[in-house]
Amino acid sequence: MSDALMIWLALSTFLVLLMQAGFACYEAGMVRRKNSVNVAIKNVADLGTSIFLYLLIGFSVMFGPSWNGVLGMGASPMLSDDPPLILTALFQAMFCGTAITIVSGAVSERTTFRGYLLLAVAMTLLVYPITGHWVWAEGGWLAEMGFFDFAGSTAVHAVGGAIALAAVILIGPRLGRFETERSAEPVPGTAGGGRIDSDNLAVSALGAFLLMFGWFGFNSGGATDFETQVPLILVNTAIGGAVGIVVILLLGWVMGRKAGAVDILTGMLGGLVGITAGCEVLPPLGAVALGALGGLVAVWGTHLLARLRLDDPVGAIPVHLFAGVVGTALLPLFAYEHKIPPQVDGRLDWLGVQVLGTLTVSVFAFCIAWVVIRVTDPLVGFRVSPEDERIGLNVAEHGAGTAMLDLLNQLAAQGVKGDFSNPVTVERESEAGYIAAFYNQVRERFVSEAERSNALLEEAAFLANHDPLTGLKNRRAFVAAANTDISDLNRYGGDDCLIMIDLDHFKAINDCHGHDVGDEVLVELAHRLRRVARETDVIARLGGEEFGIIVGRATLDQGLISARRFLTAINKEPFALSVGPLAVTASLGVASLAQHTTFDAALKAADEALYAAKRGGRNRVCAAPAADGHLAPEVIQAD
Ligand code: GH3
Ligand code: MG
Ligand code: MG
Repeated sequence: MSDALMIWLALSTFLVLLMQAGFACYEAGMVRRKNSVNVAIKNVADLGTSIFLYLLIGFSVMFGPSWNGVLGMGASPMLSDDPPLILTALFQAMFCGTAITIVSGAVSERTTFRGYLLLAVAMTLLVYPITGHWVWAEGGWLAEMGFFDFAGSTAVHAVGGAIALAAVILIGPRLGRFETERSAEPVPGTAGGGRIDSDNLAVSALGAFLLMFGWFGFNSGGATDFETQVPLILVNTAIGGAVGIVVILLLGWVMGRKAGAVDILTGMLGGLVGITAGCEVLPPLGAVALGALGGLVAVWGTHLLARLRLDDPVGAIPVHLFAGVVGTALLPLFAYEHKIPPQVDGRLDWLGVQVLGTLTVSVFAFCIAWVVIRVTDPLVGFRVSPEDERIGLNVAEHGAGTAMLDLLNQLAAQGVKGDFSNPVTVERESEAGYIAAFYNQVRERFVSEAERSNALLEEAAFLANHDPLTGLKNRRAFVAAANTDISDLNRYGGDDCLIMIDLDHFKAINDCHGHDVGDEVLVELAHRLRRVARETDVIARLGGEEFGIIVGRATLDQGLISARRFLTAINKEPFALSVGPLAVTASLGVASLAQHTTFDAALKAADEALYAAKRGGRNRVCAAPAADGHLAPEVIQAD
């Protein structure tokens, strides 16, 4: 190998490695954010295992001296000191990594990490080197037949896609992926209605750029002569990607609708896969044809899979398997005449070999993957629990992003309990922290509004039953209390008394000192009544300068004693007012509640007694006649 070619091979190796970054971005952007870390880490983890195992074992199985064209047997390149050989082995190890990582996107969002790694290891040892031997090794049975796959449309892409297909069928679709709008319950944590939105297609577009950049090395690293092979390979590679994009844009235009973002990315990758097998034998116009076919097949394939209810979140199967098979099978139709392999008899014969080769390899990869998953599933478990799937694999598999989960749990708890009194707490500088801070702001506002309206409600309720000037009960509340009292007395017996109080010459106080001073008198009166009353007495301002008191468990005589106590509280000491001390008196009427069947009747009786007290000269207590005609001492002079 010439120095120039070695340098180009080394560069190509790095470029193929860069494709891993492309896959990681492409897939992380396509899945939901709750799984993005998981899918990116799967790409890293499978790179590690596949490079290591391929260098240790895979390369010698693939390129070692052939055993009947089926597999190679040789020493590990790790034991070799031949620089071109170990560099080639490294380049091939990167290829192996690419084939395996194709699977990660297809099974993303619902596959266990250990299940995926086991699949990656099995494919690195059981599938990729064996089918690779058939296609690329000296003596490989397909290579011997004239099967041509320059950079791996079949050996890498169809193999990865076929493994992905087996895995997708066996592992099943993501929760909610194929639930229709009409299905009973939307699955929590999904967009519902069978659509699961990608998190960040801008990141996927970056991934597609990285993939195409790396693809130049992927396709041309295997060249054996730089000058005659590499320029054509590079231009065909560029054409494949470009035509894949253009054909989808044109399709959208012809069909009169906008080309979808995912379709454009899928078309580009399908175009690249489509020309990979033939990149060294196709004239640029041939690359146009296969790039266009690859793009169309890939996009058509994504819609086909959806119809078949096969859930491939990133479109890996249509891009790598479908476009890989089509690109490999049809390249004889477009290749240069002088590139037709000597083993075949014309283009048609070649076409037959290509179809046979690509299908055999794909079916073999599919079957081995199927068996591996079926056999190992009971041991490792390929499918995550529904609970983990809903939480997302970032958290479930890697414990990442716990701040967001923490926040969601707190929000859910507040929602369920209806208790918004405490703020939610998460780590301040995380993304969840910003949402939490915003939520807390909204929550604070909500709580203060709720407190304000509660206070207003309480005030309204207080005003409905109380007199705003004195704070005593109002007539409404007093009548309600009295009615309850009378019906209790009628039912259970006992004696209660009603006392009516009316200030004497109150109008004169108003007239002489002003309305404000009159108010002061009313407030002070309420204060004195409260001070003298027992706890069970009900006091109310019934209107103007008229007050009512229900004295519980009191005969008429006891009611009279209470009334006298109230009168004494009023007239014993002058009221201390803003205008100075003022002597105030009142007239009181007492009636027994128990002796009247309605409150109105009792009120009328007490009122009559009150006016008897007025007539009798004011500043005194007067009782209504008892039911048996017995007259209580009619006029009782105040002390
Ligand atoms: P009597 O001894 O016969 O009861 O004479 P009076 O002046 O106390 O009774 P009258 O019914 O003639 O007058 C009651 C007065 O009470 C008239 C009204 O201006 C006054 N009044 C009613 N409500 C209020 C109030 O809320 N504040 C004040 N300051 N005065 C009130
Ligand atoms: Mg009065
Ligand atoms: Mg009055």
